[in-house]
Amino acid sequence: MKLPDEFKQEALEVVSALRSYVEEQQRRGIKIVPAFTPPADSIGAPRLIPPHLKKEELQKVREEIGDCTRCRLHAGRKNIVFGIGNPDARLVFVGEGPGADEDLQGEPFVGAAGQLLTRMIQAIQLDRSDVYIANVVKCRPPDNRDPQEDEIETCLPFLKKQLAVIRPRIICTLGRFATQALLGTKEGITKLRGRFHALEDGSRVMPTYHPSFLLRSPEKKREAWEDLQKVQKEYMEEP
Ligand code: URA
Repeated sequence: MKLPDEFKQEALEVVSALRSYVEEQQRRGIKIVPAFTPPADSIGAPRLIPPHLKKEELQKVREEIGDCTRCRLHAGRKNIVFGIGNPDARLVFVGEGPGADEDLQGEPFVGAAGQLLTRMIQAIQLDRSDVYIANVVKCRPPDNRDPQEDEIETCLPFLKKQLAVIRPRIICTLGRFATQALLGTKEGITKLRGRFHALEDGSRVMPTYHPSFLLRSPEKKREAWEDLQKVQKEYMEEP
């Protein structure tokens, strides 16, 4: 399809602005992490999905997952826990993987940790329905063990596709696994939390403690609250 010249010009300006942004971040020493890049159109501009089509596009990602048997976690699951919330969310929370309650109900963060996450969301004056909530792995690891590297590697592309549809301004990663997976690092959560990390697509990742950890270590809630306040401030920024 041939595009009118003014669209081509606009797309080239977007690409050039993005390149300057990345270069500026690199000059300032901020590591830019490659995000999932949606298929580019014929002139190389990333595909932006209009808000009214995002629900449908997320459904396509769900259909692509299908009745997944790509990794060993499928054997013990009752439900694939895809993700829930606003398909056009400005803020996405990413956890590790479903627990027993989530596996039963097919919805992320509905157990004890989920109740704490709901309160964390409400503490920044938002509702669960304002945000989107997903996990790095979509099937419950047996006995709530940590997800293994190959399981994360298999499932992560689907999370990245979800994020490429939603295009949130902020991604709040909950705990080590979500943070390391999205930032592509092995650095610990204590080092990474509390500051924004830029992704290549312009979104910003704020790592914080996982709510399950906060239930076990309530003295860490103050730090998590500080992280959430930064998220709230960024959420309120224009545009
Ligand atoms: N812990 C997670 O990481 N995700 C959930 O969905 C529930 C608990």
